[in-house]
Amino acid sequence: DHRLPRIASAIRVIPDFPKPGIMFQDITTLLLDPKAFRDTIDMFVERYRDQEITIIAGVEARGFIFGPPIALAIGAKFVPMRKPKKLPGEVISEEYSLEYGTDRMEMHVGAVQPGDRALVIDDLIATGGTLSAAIRLLERVGAEVVECACVIELPELKGRERLGGTPLFVLVKAA
Ligand code: 5GP
Repeated sequence: DHRLPRIASAIRVIPDFPKPGIMFQDITTLLLDPKAFRDTIDMFVERYRDQEITIIAGVEARGFIFGPPIALAIGAKFVPMRKPKKLPGEVISEEYSLEYGTDRMEMHVGAVQPGDRALVIDDLIATGGTLSAAIRLLERVGAEVVECACVIELPELKGRERLGGTPLFVLVKAA
């Protein structure tokens, strides 16, 4: 697609953040290029507009940037998947592993119903642990997770293989 080179080059790489040896993929520079940001949203909207998606589940924090414009464009609900103790209502939660230790993701009870067709959005997939927790939360309440979508994949980490068969769509692959 002719839009992909501009999207890829609008993503800034910051070496040694948040610690030595990590090449951090920084999407804040993509947000500073309105044409590239628009193209990013459009590419997701074109893929998902005719798939009867009812829920866009956005992963805190950068899934909150890309998810809502897609949800509005396709007429789906937006559901935030949050870090622990942020959501005020009753929640269900799933643990997932980090490089050191574990974290937890929470979703409001009642936000998603059995039969909902969900798309999970985040900016980037690394090991896949984060997306796999989101998939488990949605499936626990009876939703069908149609696909996960990210702007960036780090394919060397093989996160795709941790999604238990749920398809993954990405725009840009980074080293
Ligand atoms: P995973 O659970 O797949 O190992 O890590 C993915 C999560 O970590 C995503 O929520 C993503 O936002 C964050 N993350 C990890 N590395 C990077 C990076 O280089 N750039 C950005 N923007 N996010 C990252």
